[in-house]
Amino acid sequence: MRLQILGTAAAEGWPAIFCGCEACQRARVLGGKNIRTRASLQIDDNYKIDLPPDTHHHSIAYGLELSKLRCLFFTHSHGDHFALQEIEYTKEGFSHCRAVDPIEVYGNEKVAAAVDDLRQRRDLPLTVNVVRPFEPVKVDHLTFIPIPAVHAQSETCLNYVVQSDAHTMLYASDTGPYPAKTLNRLTSFEFNLLVIECTFGPARQEPHTGHLALEGLLGIRDHLAKCGALRPGARTIATHFSHNMGVLHHEMQNIAGREGVEIAYDGMEIVIT
Ligand SMILES: [Zn+2]
Ligand SMILES: [Zn+2]
Ligand SMILES: [Zn+2]
Repeated sequence: MRLQILGTAAAEGWPAIFCGCEACQRARVLGGKNIRTRASLQIDDNYKIDLPPDTHHHSIAYGLELSKLRCLFFTHSHGDHFALQEIEYTKEGFSHCRAVDPIEVYGNEKVAAAVDDLRQRRDLPLTVNVVRPFEPVKVDHLTFIPIPAVHAQSETCLNYVVQSDAHTMLYASDTGPYPAKTLNRLTSFEFNLLVIECTFGPARQEPHTGHLALEGLLGIRDHLAKCGALRPGARTIATHFSHNMGVLHHEMQNIAGREGVEIAYDGMEIVIT
């Protein structure tokens, strides 16, 4: 499985578009890994989780060939993960010579209904599928298992376990701390890799539910480790950061590195071996 974390910011990006705070000003000056766009995960050439408003930028910056996109999974309908308007550009005329037709779209009921409405109105080359927590979706050599996130009450937000024959990874964005029931379901896997959101950065505790701070991220990682659900050498990578946490990439890496957590940056490539 070849993974690339395309974007690593919370909803407003970092630097946030209209923000003049110190964390954004420092990011503008230092650049590099401190420039964070909206969150998405590319898996091999053909699979992707979420379609943020920065997808056009991602395709250019990382040389993505999204004409090869076969399956698009969505976590939830928030605008930083679900740029509905961009899906329209799958239409013949906006796109030519796509390798896969139609693209399979997977999401919760709210996402699926919105995509299907657009598909019908604009005659888009998509197949739309509703996915539900813990009901696996097999596509080619991969299995996607939706996990119920703790994020918004108006829809069933999802995280995903992605499995190949040899590897298992968790993509957990967006979510607050999982309840015991979800954690216990996750202990039936043996993970090589956890990619978990850390919107609130080094805060001791989440100021409200729906997102995680480092402490909450470690709660998930340590529970899985204690239950034998992490393989030896499993990596934990934090993503989906808000400028409100105030610490830049290298500062957060110093803090989280002591706990064995890596800090994601835009374009970070991960090869699970
Ligand atoms: Zn988000
Ligand atoms: Zn800011
Ligand atoms: Zn969200």
